[in-house]
Order: sequence, then C-alpha cells, then structure tokens
Amino acid sequence: MELSTVLVLIAAGWAVCLASPIQVNPDSDGDPKQDDRTVFERIEALNNEISKPLRDGDIAYNIVRSTTKCDGCLWDTCENGMVYVPYVLSSAYSNIDKWLITDAIKEFETMTCVKFVSRSSEADYLSIESLSGCWSYVSKIGGKQIVSLNKNGCMNPGVIQHELMHTLGFIHEHSRSDRNNYVDILWQNILPVNHPNFEIRDSNNLDLPYDYGSIMHYPSTAYSNPSGTNTIVPKPDPKVPIGQTLGMSHLDVMKINKLYKCNLCRTKFTDPSGSFSADGLSFGQDGSCLWLIQTQNNKVSLQLSGINIPLSVGCNESYIKVYDGGYKSDEVLLNNTCGFQILPPLISSTNLMLVELVSSQKPALSRFSASYNTVTYGETLINDNGVVISPWVRGFYPNNVDAAYSIIAPQGYKVSLTFSYFYMEDSINCSKDYLIVTDGAATIAPALGKFCGMKLPPALVSSGNVMLLQFHSDDQKNSYGYKASYRFAPNA
Ligand SMILES: [Zn+2]
Repeated sequence: MELSTVLVLIAAGWAVCLASPIQVNPDSDGDPKQDDRTVFERIEALNNEISKPLRDGDIAYNIVRSTTKCDGCLWDTCENGMVYVPYVLSSAYSNIDKWLITDAIKEFETMTCVKFVSRSSEADYLSIESLSGCWSYVSKIGGKQIVSLNKNGCMNPGVIQHELMHTLGFIHEHSRSDRNNYVDILWQNILPVNHPNFEIRDSNNLDLPYDYGSIMHYPSTAYSNPSGTNTIVPKPDPKVPIGQTLGMSHLDVMKINKLYKCNLCRTKFTDPSGSFSADGLSFGQDGSCLWLIQTQNNKVSLQLSGINIPLSVGCNESYIKVYDGGYKSDEVLLNNTCGFQILPPLISSTNLMLVELVSSQKPALSRFSASYNTVTYGETLINDNGVVISPWVRGFYPNNVDAAYSIIAPQGYKVSLTFSYFYMEDSINCSKDYLIVTDGAATIAPALGKFCGMKLPPALVSSGNVMLLQFHSDDQKNSYGYKASYRFAPNA
C-alpha cells in the first residue's frame, strides 16, 4: 500500500472518530400509538407481505456471512476505544419519528462504547430508511448500508434497537449454535416455508449465557400455524418469558461490549426490584460505572445507603449522581454527591433511572449500596418553588398506598412547606390514613409532624436540606388529600 493511501485511510479514520451525534427534538406532528405487540410480532406483521428476500424474518443478505464470526465486518474501534457508526436518517421521517430513533439509539451510547453518529463523509454508513418492513443486514457490509424502519410499523424502541443490533453483528438469540440446550422448536406448528427462520447459525456466543430476555429473541408464538400455538418453548422451564419489547437486556449490553472490546463498567436492570453496590467494581476506560434501571411501566424508587465517597471540592473528583431518565443528558435527581450521606428515596418520573459513580481517586474507597423497587406514586422534587400533592385518582386519594415525596434543596439550604388544603381520614393518633413529614431523610430523621383529619397542618421548616413526606392510606375510607407548596431558603 502506498503511503498516500495509508494517510487517506488514517484521515478517514479520524473523521469518523470526531463525528458528533445529531440532536433531534420531538414536535407535535404525531402521537405515539399504544401497541402491546412484542418486537418480533411487529416485525413479522410488517414483513409478511414484502418482496425483499429476507432470512430469519428480518435479515437482509447480499453475500453469505457468518454472523459475528467474520473478519472485517465489525465497525472500527478508534484510538479512544470508541466505535463510531455513522448514519443518515431519511427525510421521510417526521420529527417525532426522528426523535424516537435517536432516543432508542442513545442507549447504545450510554451503555456501550458504540456511538451512532451523524454521517459526514464516511464511506461505510447506515442509511436508515422508511422502506417496506423492518429489516437490516447483519454486521457492517461496507458502503451505504440500508436499515429499513418503516415509519408506520417499526417506530418502537425495541424494534429500532433490534435492527441496530443486527447492524453491529448480532443474529437472533434463538439461532445461536447452542440454542438446542435452551429451547425446543415445535416444528409441527411452523409451516415448512418458514422452517429456515428457525435454523441454527454458526455463531460466536462470546462465552456469554443464553439470553431468554434478549431483544434479539423471537417470542414463543413466532410464525405459528395455527396462529397462537407455541413454536419456541424454553427448557427446562417453559414459563420463562421470551420475546420482550422493552429494549436491550443486560446480556445484550454485555454482548456488544464484549464483541467490540469496550472497557466499560455497565449494568442494566429490567427486573421490578433489585440491589447493587460499589463492591468489587472495576472502573472502565471512562473512570465511571453506570447502572441503568428500566422497568415495564412503573416509576423507579431508589434507596441509596452507606454512601461514603472521598471528599473533593464540589464533589467533582469522585461522586455519585442519579438521573431522572436513561441518559446523562436527562434531568438530575441527585447532583454530584460525596462524603458520608444519608438520602431519602429517589423517585423517577418515568420507568427509567440512571445511577453514575465516578471515582477519579482511589476507586476502592468509594462505597455505597442501593436497592430499588417500582412505585406508582411518589416524587423527588429538586427545583425550588414547587408543589407537592397527595396521590390522587379522579379527585380522591386511593386506598392502600404508601408513597414517599422527597424534597431536596441544595446543600446549605433549608425547605419550608405550606399547606393550602388538607383532607384525610381522621383517626385517634392518626393510626389509619396519615402523612408524616420528617426533617431529613428516611425513617431515622425526626418527625416534624404526623397529620390526619381535616385540620390544616402548620407551616413546616427543615433544619437541613432535605424534607421527606411519607403518605399512607389504609384499606378503608379516603378523602380529597392535600396540597402544599414548598420553597428553598439559605440556611443562615
Ligand atoms: Zn431480527
């Protein structure tokens, strides 16, 4: 190879490595539609009628490729350890379609070293187009590479992530070389014309466990005939769910990080409750660890405990930080925090929460543990001058609810709370429905009061920067609830 050619290649490589993502904001040109079908049910429904030759339901092919077992078919890794995949989006997409696609894409950037970036002049790139059906090639094929995401059927985060995982080199999970150890295929319920969709492929399984929860796994009734019968049955436990719709699983994230040799500390949780800690962490190339919690549809309530992180000015060197959403560009629920800390529950406003631990100094000295569960009610309020309102459904608070509302002012501030109305079931010692307001975090903090009945509570002021409202209703009688406004004030 001539030197000039080498330089051109290097220059092209750097261009890819410096590319930046596009930013798209949604507008009001369409409403997302409620659709409970699994990822593959959507793909199957749309791809049924199209003429494009597809393998395994949604995989396009122009050359025979052996999935992740191929040379030169992975996207390039840059010197900084990042893998940039350039893409362009068709102008046929509305702004809300573009927002859905770029939002689904952001999880790759958060959880892996793969970053989808707006193409400048790179030779190899994805062209995401609204053609017939949802389909993709497997791995990088070179040049312009079409990914079809039909705007009337594939606009779902799980479908988008599924097709993009194909472009990174992944086949369907149930096509893995070792799948017969984990699922049975019921061939009698599949028309012979669809049998090839269930063939085993010669795959590189990356020494990772079989993943029933993968976004790349068909559901149990894929290609069923008669429709609705089982075609894939997990074993030994046939009840293990397969064919989920939410998005990448933890093992999907691990697969990408392993295939592309990403040196990152990342964990994804999709169970409705769980726990984790800073024990035995190995920080990656970015000096941080991230935990992404994604639940089916409830809010996430996170209780951090035992926080002990080396102090630095502004907690800028080592800190824990919690985001109200799945990405570091989302609103912050807990800003950079270090030292010994006792915190109230942190509650997300959606089904996503991201926890970040950065440790620039002596990582082993940064300690915390965390547990999470899902809640319907509750809130974390961090902006000055807001309103806190009891849980309510059609004007009344529901029975059998325990909900926490944490008000967190910046360090050096205190919280004052003023009720505008208060109507709860009355009882002796407020033993039935009640509101407890505590001066600080969690149950160890002294109570500013326990309230019930219809008497307006007095104005309340915290001594520190945290006030916690704990709402409880029993299984009988309810009422209108309460509304209060809060303010932050310097703690002179
Ligand atoms: Zn697929």
